[in-house]
Amino acid sequence: MVSGLLPRASGVVERLERDLQTRFPDLELMFSRDADGVWTCSVNRDRQHFWGSGGTAWWLTDAGDLYDGGDSEDLLLSVAEFLCDNMWPDELTDPWPRCPAHHDHALNLGRAWGLASWTCADDPTAAVTIGDLGRS
Ligand SMILES: [Zn+2]
Repeated sequence: MVSGLLPRASGVVERLERDLQTRFPDLELMFSRDADGVWTCSVNRDRQHFWGSGGTAWWLTDAGDLYDGGDSEDLLLSVAEFLCDNMWPDELTDPWPRCPAHHDHALNLGRAWGLASWTCADDPTAAVTIGDLGRS
């Protein structure tokens, strides 16, 4: 469960958490606001790895909700990009998530069918919607 956000926003980010749990079963994402009011994300319960934490101007209200009319797929993509670029443990260098079509490279973040997804640069049909990694 993603803590620190109101249910609508939490439900969106939980798709990313669910995918991460396919590899890190105990992992939980936690959001909080720092002294300057910036939302920061951190990883709970995965004590085996050195996760970073931090935040950026995510589209979240002060209370931790989605903005009305805001694009939840954009929010999910930006959190996922931040996590992969800035929080991912340095010691983990193997490709993740592995492309289901080619097996030898990691998927990138992008949109597929309008949804925040893990995408393959070589084959658009190999994309997996964020939240569905465990189903493939
Ligand atoms: Zn591929």
